[in-house]
Amino acid sequence: MNTTFEYDVIVVGGGHAGCEAAVAASRLGAKTLLTSLNIENIATMPCNPAIGGPAKSCLVREIDALGGIMGIAADATYLQMKMLNLSKGPAVRALRAQSDKKEYMKFVRELLENQENLYIKQCTVSDLMVHDDRICGVVDELGLQYRAKAVILTTGTSLNGKIFIGLQSFPAGRLGEMPAIGLSDALIKLGFTVKKLKTGTPARVDARTIDYSKLIIQPGDEQLNFFSFEPNRPVREQIPCYLTRTTKQTHEIILANLDKSPLYAGLIGGKGPRYCPSIEDKVVRFAHNDSHHIFIEPEGKNTYETYVQGFSTSLPADVQYKMLRSLPGLENVFVLKPAYAVEYDYVPATQLTHSLMTKKIEGLFCAGQINGTSGYEEAAAQGLIAGINATRYCDNKELITLSRSSSYTGTLIDDLVTKEMDEPYRMLTSRSEYRLILRQDNADERLTPLGREIGLIKDARWQRFQEKQKSIQEETHRLENKRIKPNEEINKILAEYGEEMKLSYTLAELIKRPNLNYEAIKKIDPTAQELELSKEIYENTEVNIKYSGYIERQNSQIEQADKLEKIKIPEDINYQEIIQLSKESMERLSKIRPVTLAQASRIGGVNPADISILMVILEARRRTKAEV
Ligand SMILES: Cc1cc2nc3c(=O)[nH]c(=O)nc-3n(C[C@H](O)[C@H](O)[C@H](O)COP(=O)(O)OP(=O)(O)OC[C@H]3O[C@@H](n4cnc5c(N)ncnc54)[C@H](O)[C@@H]3O)c2cc1C
Repeated sequence: MNTTFEYDVIVVGGGHAGCEAAVAASRLGAKTLLTSLNIENIATMPCNPAIGGPAKSCLVREIDALGGIMGIAADATYLQMKMLNLSKGPAVRALRAQSDKKEYMKFVRELLENQENLYIKQCTVSDLMVHDDRICGVVDELGLQYRAKAVILTTGTSLNGKIFIGLQSFPAGRLGEMPAIGLSDALIKLGFTVKKLKTGTPARVDARTIDYSKLIIQPGDEQLNFFSFEPNRPVREQIPCYLTRTTKQTHEIILANLDKSPLYAGLIGGKGPRYCPSIEDKVVRFAHNDSHHIFIEPEGKNTYETYVQGFSTSLPADVQYKMLRSLPGLENVFVLKPAYAVEYDYVPATQLTHSLMTKKIEGLFCAGQINGTSGYEEAAAQGLIAGINATRYCDNKELITLSRSSSYTGTLIDDLVTKEMDEPYRMLTSRSEYRLILRQDNADERLTPLGREIGLIKDARWQRFQEKQKSIQEETHRLENKRIKPNEEINKILAEYGEEMKLSYTLAELIKRPNLNYEAIKKIDPTAQELELSKEIYENTEVNIKYSGYIERQNSQIEQADKLEKIKIPEDINYQEIIQLSKESMERLSKIRPVTLAQASRIGGVNPADISILMVILEARRRTKAEV
C-alpha cells in the first residue's frame, strides 16, 4: 500500500501564518497540504481576541490588497470595530476589531475546507526530507512521509514549547496543546541555528463573576470601518469592552510574590516581547506608575469567557487569583483559564532571504512566530508572502520581495532578515521610515497591482480598484482646479471651523488648512454635495491633498534610498578579503550576506564608513567587469 503522499507545497502549521500561506499557495494552483497539531485549533487566537491596532491594521489591509484572507475573516466575525488615534494624523490611525474567537476560527476553517487544491491533516511534523540541500518533503511522528517541492514552516510557539505558571512548568506549545518535538532537532541537524524566546498571555475569566457597574464601558464606533477592500461587509451588533485599573493592592501583591515568577527566578532563558510586557514587568519597570489600564474584553458572543487585556503574568495560580481580585469590578472573579508564559524555539530569520526561503535549504520557507515575531498580523503577512513564493518556487518563477517603501510587510521582512534580534519582533509605526506613505487607507493603492500581477486579485476586484483610483484622481484634479471666491455665506460656514477667506482659493488650497476637511468643503461646494463618492474615496482624496507636501518629501527620500537599493552585492563577495572593513562589519556582513548596499547599511554594527568602502569596491569590480 502506498503511504507516501505527494504535494506541491506543504505548510506546517495552521495558525495565522499557515492559513494565509496555504490559501495563497492553493489559490495560485499548487496542490497544498496544511498540517496542524490539532486541526480543531486552526486559526485560533492564543492571546488577545483582536485583530489590528497601530501598524498592525496596516499589515491587515496590505494582506487584503495582496489577496489574503485575514481582513475578510476579521470583518466577518467582529464583536466590535474601533478606529484608534482618530484625532491624530492619518499615518497612525488604526482600525482594531475585537473578534469573536470561535466564529473567526469557524470562518477560516470553512474557507480552507472549501478551497480547491487545499488539504488539511492533523499530525506532528517531526522531520524534514532533504536531498542535495533541497527540500523534498516532511515526515510525521508516525513515520508517514509527505513529499513536496516546497515546505513552509509556521510552527508558532510549538517547537519544544514549555509552559510556566509560577515555579511549575510542563511541555506544551500553548495551554491544552502538545508541544512539537523533533522538528527543532531536525533543523539543527541541517545546520540551522535555533534559539529560544518567550511570550505570555493573561487569564480568561467568567463574565458572570464580574461586576460591570464598577467598570468604564468602551463601546465600538457608530460609524463602521472595515479591513477588507472587498464589498459586502456585514453590519453586526457590537458588544462593548470595559476598562478597569490596577490598584495599590495589585502592585503590592505582585511585588511580594516576585520570587515565585519563573522569569525573575531565572527559570526562563528566552526574552519576552518588550512591547507586550507582563504585568509584573510593568510594575517593576514603571515603578513610578501607581496604576495601569486593564481592558476587559469579550472572547465571543456566545461565551462567558473574557480576556483580561494588559494582565499577562506567569505568577502562580493562587497569586493570580489575588491579583485579579484586587481589580475594581473583579473582586469575586472566577478564573476559567490561568495566565501563563511559554518558552519556545525559533529560527532567527537572518537565515532567510527576503523571499522567506532559507539560505541553506532550497524550497524550505519559514513564516510567522518561528521567525521571531509576535502577533497574528505579523504572522499572517509573512505567511502570505511565503505561500506566494513557495508556489512561485515550484513554478520556477522569480520569487517576489517587497521593499521597505512599498509596505509594512516589506519593512517587517527586511528587519527580520537583516537585523539580529533577541526578543520577539512586533510591528510598530516607528519601525518604518516611510510611515506617511505607508498608511492603512492607501494599502490597496500600494499593493493591489502586485496582488493582481501575482494572480491573487481576481477580475471583479481589480475592476473595482481601478474605478476607485480613477475617482480619487478625478476628484483630486477637480479640487485642485476649482477656485471659489469669498462671500458672506461661505465665510459664515468657514467661521464654524475657525477659518475665513478674503481672496479666492482653490478647494484643494482650502482643504490643506489645518481646521478644514472634506466635510467643510461639502458645505461650500455644491458639486461635492452632489457627488456620490464612497467614504474611502473622500478619505484618500483628503489625505493626498492635505499632506501632499510631506508625501512629496517622503517620495524624494524613497528615491534617494532606492539608489542604494539598486546597488546589488555579488553573491560571491568575500568580506574576509576586504581588509579595510572593520572586524565587526566583516563578521556581520559575512553572516547576513546582504543582497543590496541598502540592506548592508541597515545591519546593526555595520557603520557608514564601511558602506563607503563597500561602495568603492563594488564600483571598482563593476568597472573591471565592464573592461573585460
Ligand atoms: C501564550 C501566548 C501568548 C501570546 N502573546 C502574544 C502577545 O502578547 N502579543 C502578540 O502580538 N502575540 C502574542 N502571541 C503570539 C500570537 O499568538 C502569535 O504570534 C501568532 O499566533 C503566530 O502565528 P503563527 O501562525 O506563526 O503560529 P501559531 O498561531 O502559534 O500557529 C502555529 C501552528 O503550527 C502548528 N504546528 C506547530 N508545530 C507543528 C508541527 N511540528 N507539525 C504540525 N503542526 C505544527 C500548530 O498546531 C499551530 O497550528 C502569543 C501566543 C501565545 C501562545
